[in-house]
Amino acid sequence: MSHSVIQLLPDHIANQIAAGEVIQRPSSVVKELVENAIDAGANSIEVHIKDAGRTLIQVSDNGSGMSEPDAMMCFERHATSKLKSADELFNLQTKGFRGEALASIAAIAHVDLRTKQSEDEIGTHVIINGSKVEEVVPDVCKDGTSFQVKNLFFNVPARRNFLKSDKVEFKHILNEFERIAIPHSQVEFKLVHNNETIYSLPISNLKQRLTNMFGKSSENKWVPLKEETDIVGLSGFIGKPEFAKKSRGEQYFFVNNRFFKSSHFHHAVSKAYSDLLKPDTHASYVLFFDVDPTKLDVNVHPTKTEIKFEEDRLIYAILHTAIKNSLGKYNVMPTLDFEAEMSFDVPAEVRKSIPREPEIKTSDNYNPFQSTSKPANSGVSSGQSKAIRSAGFEKEINQSWTSSFSDLQIDEEQEDEQQSLQADVLLDRQWMIQSPYIVTGMEKQFVYVHYRRAYERIVYEELMRTFISNPIPSQGMLFPIHLDMNKKEQELWKENESLLKQFGLDWNMEGECIEITAVPVVLPEDRMEPFLSKLVDQMEHAQIERGELAHHFLLSLSKAAGMKKGLVKNIEMAQDIIERLTACEDQNYSPAGLKIKRTLSFEQLETL
Ligand code: ADP
Ligand code: MG
Repeated sequence: MSHSVIQLLPDHIANQIAAGEVIQRPSSVVKELVENAIDAGANSIEVHIKDAGRTLIQVSDNGSGMSEPDAMMCFERHATSKLKSADELFNLQTKGFRGEALASIAAIAHVDLRTKQSEDEIGTHVIINGSKVEEVVPDVCKDGTSFQVKNLFFNVPARRNFLKSDKVEFKHILNEFERIAIPHSQVEFKLVHNNETIYSLPISNLKQRLTNMFGKSSENKWVPLKEETDIVGLSGFIGKPEFAKKSRGEQYFFVNNRFFKSSHFHHAVSKAYSDLLKPDTHASYVLFFDVDPTKLDVNVHPTKTEIKFEEDRLIYAILHTAIKNSLGKYNVMPTLDFEAEMSFDVPAEVRKSIPREPEIKTSDNYNPFQSTSKPANSGVSSGQSKAIRSAGFEKEINQSWTSSFSDLQIDEEQEDEQQSLQADVLLDRQWMIQSPYIVTGMEKQFVYVHYRRAYERIVYEELMRTFISNPIPSQGMLFPIHLDMNKKEQELWKENESLLKQFGLDWNMEGECIEITAVPVVLPEDRMEPFLSKLVDQMEHAQIERGELAHHFLLSLSKAAGMKKGLVKNIEMAQDIIERLTACEDQNYSPAGLKIKRTLSFEQLETL
């Protein structure tokens, strides 16, 4: 004899079970209520907590408020005003959309709701305990919404007993609160715990919000970061290395203003900082990813903080590069002392032949760079000219170093950008080219520029700027290069396809071999093969250190570019290099850390 055993669970039990997923602890309630307030367009939100949320969680906002029917409806499972069709799921701008939070909260607590829309005379007061509606009455209410959630888990003892100490539970609340308060600096927030005001945050910009949250002492710690690309917009702040902390507290990623955790992207940031931090310290960061919502996995569990990005590899590389860029731009990279003797010194042949005693005395108060009006040739004594000639250079100065610059104008914008070499661009300078150096004069000194290293730096920075938003300019090849690759290497190549295209490469796969049909424009012809084989090696290595690939790629590409034959054949080319160097963030060192320029002042020259 058969008998049926299946029955439907009563609603309140189903709600209780479901609540377990959404509401794990008091902090989950805080998160859901504050997010609802933001979705309701509030710009002022107050959170009052008693006993780490066990006794009371109250969230009041000045948002849209609800009509009386909505005030009852909002506690129904799957009741949401934020999602009307399945299509919208892929393009959501709101925090919530599942319509589960309030149903869950109401199932496991005593809830008191007061809400009013500004156009209504009177508001609505709802009391609901363990999914049971006790009261719905019109009442005097402020515009907006105020939820009181009391005695959380009153009917779920297992959950209640599972809660940790007040200290721990309040820490969770603080975390949730901060993760919402940071990306919404246009909203005023207040957080009060047991009558003590923990945070009182006025409407402000992001930088001020961070200072208000992390204290005045953190004011100078941040360096801005901003990169716009088709794949991701990045913005926010990263901490200067000297402010790195022993704890990993201040590390925040947000995608479309929603907090998320990612060990993958964290790795990209850490790598970019790698040599700058003391052991066991962690850099702070508050970074915003702006990504097309259709390129995110939206089917995320409401309590999950992991998010899947479709283009995570490319974003990793862009993030890594952007961090490096930002650290470099704000001179956060260790600044090596230019005066200190480094790997690049006065060329050996110069050193050898510098006369111990100057043969001809020069006038002490003569400074050829100060005058702008003397006629040509009147300024340089034969002694100076000879000193230079005897210093081993083939070309001698045959024109005065002095010249008028009244007819040269620099527009203001350029002037802002060009700082360290600025004064000297004004001068109609004398140039000498002695491979691999350009020698020229600027403000009271001679400057020796190692032009291959300078060019490496130029290519590195120019391509870095391009790479972040566009593919690197590439050229098709008349005679494609064939690279042999094993299965594993081919797989790696395929995996990194979008990144490799971004590098300016193009290819055909054919059997065991890959035919490279386009390479970056700056790659000299005779460096192509070694460069590409190295790339395959690097890719294997980058399997572990993924985003590093972009950095390595740009590094070896700039190195290859610097080896170009006939890089500086005439004065125009020398001038071009110096000018492009002035636009570089770092004008002193090549990407590989070798010194680019060295100066010799007139005083030094005289003592020689
Ligand atoms: P979801 O946020 O996923 O839509 P919730 O259960 O959190 O689901 O909320 C249900 C609905 O209640 C929301 O869609 C919204 O219409 C309404 N609501 C909740 N909180 C507020 C609030 N603070 N102000 C105005 N409306 C609210
Ligand atoms: Mg919600």
